[in-house]
Amino acid sequence: MFIDTHAHIHQHPTDEIADIVERAANAHVGAIFTAGTTIDDSQLAIDLATGFPSIFAGVGVHPTDLTRSLTADDIARLNALAGSPQVVVMSEIGIDHQDRSPDMIWQAESFHAQISIARQHGLPIVFHIREQADDYDARSARDVSLSILKETNAGELGGTAHYFQGRWDFAKELLDLGFNISFAKTLARITDLEETAAKTPDDRILLETDAYPQMFKKNRAKWTEPRDIPLVAEKLAIVRGTSSSAIKDLTTKNTLAMLGEHATTVLTAL
Ligand SMILES: [Zn+2]
Repeated sequence: MFIDTHAHIHQHPTDEIADIVERAANAHVGAIFTAGTTIDDSQLAIDLATGFPSIFAGVGVHPTDLTRSLTADDIARLNALAGSPQVVVMSEIGIDHQDRSPDMIWQAESFHAQISIARQHGLPIVFHIREQADDYDARSARDVSLSILKETNAGELGGTAHYFQGRWDFAKELLDLGFNISFAKTLARITDLEETAAKTPDDRILLETDAYPQMFKKNRAKWTEPRDIPLVAEKLAIVRGTSSSAIKDLTTKNTLAMLGEHATTVLTAL
C-alpha cells in the first residue's frame, strides 16, 4: 500500500472523512498522515487519528500560523500532544518567507523549539520551506532553515522536506543532512522539479498530497485527496524510468524507515 506522508484531512468536515479514507483505500493508499497547523488543530489531528486505524497524526505549528513566538506554555502543550500514541511525525513546522509571513524571529525560534520537542519524542520532522517568489536574496528561507537544521543536528531525527518545489542544488543540501524529499502533484506541472525527481536517490523519496479542504475549487470532485497519491507515483515513475508499483514499494519502505520506532504504529494499517 502507498502512504500519504502529509495531508490535513482532519480539516475536512467530519462527515466526509469516512468517504475520503475509503476512496484512498480503493487507490491503494493504506495510511495517511494528517498534520496539525496550530496547537488546537494538532489536537484535532490526534482526535481524528484516534477514530481511524489508517490515519496518523503530526503535531506542530505552521510558520504562517504563528501569532507570536511560541511561549513556554505553548511548548508544554505541544510536548504533551507529541507524546500521544497516534503521533508519528512532528509536522507541520518550518520557515516561510512569503509576503505577510509572520515575524522571522518568531519563525526561527519556533522552528528551533519544535525540533527540540521532536527530539524528546524520537519523532522525525516534516518541514515546510517557502521563499517569497521575488526575494531570493539576503537571509532567504533556504539559508535560515538550513542553518537551523544544522545547528540542531536535526538530521539525526530524520524527516522530510515536504511538498518540495526547489531546485536540485537545494535538494542535495537537504539530502546531505539526512532528510528525504517528498513529492506532490505539483511535480506534474513544475518542469524545474523533474531534475530533483530524477536525481533523488531511491531510498530518499516520499509521496504526499498536502490535501486540505480546497474551498476555492467549486467542483468538490476536483479537490486533492489522499486518493491522488498514485498520480504522483505515476509521474515519478515516468521521470525515473521505473514503474508506479516500484515507486510504491520504495516510498512505503522509505516512510517506515523514516519513522524509526514509530513505524510499528503505522505498520498495523498496511
Ligand atoms: Zn501542509
